[in-house]
Amino acid sequence: MTMSKHCNYLQVLKRNSVDPTPLREAVLRSIAEQTRPLAATEIMAAVQIRTSINKVTLYRILDLFVDKGLVKRLSAGDRAFRYGMGETHHHQDHAHFVCTRCGVMECLEPELFHMDVKKLHIKGKRIINHVDVRFEGICENCRE
Ligand SMILES: [Zn+2]
Ligand SMILES: [Zn+2]
Repeated sequence: MTMSKHCNYLQVLKRNSVDPTPLREAVLRSIAEQTRPLAATEIMAAVQIRTSINKVTLYRILDLFVDKGLVKRLSAGDRAFRYGMGETHHHQDHAHFVCTRCGVMECLEPELFHMDVKKLHIKGKRIINHVDVRFEGICENCRE
């Protein structure tokens, strides 16, 4: 579910009309190279392997990425949002699974749960801007 290791994150930022800065690139890379959505504290730890960043700056960058649709803010049913890549041609829209024991969030294969958002638009007069489908249960690790 990750973007290619050879992905040019500066290009990705530009394509999404975000001014590329080294910190923004480091944050995007840290999110994109994970196989699951991360909480802000986990992103912070991942970015700090490469460069230093403070909490305020990190949250500002995350907000910007969410605004631009680069990153999705996902509710895990607890207090901390998780952040995963938005829908790009590398990364199809998909549902998530949250373990109610350890709190880990996993990406589900897009074909496991397919939703036709366009049909939802046609059927009603509502406008759908954001889709966040969450399954809850016990993860593989916690079952053992
Ligand atoms: Zn678990
Ligand atoms: Zn995901």
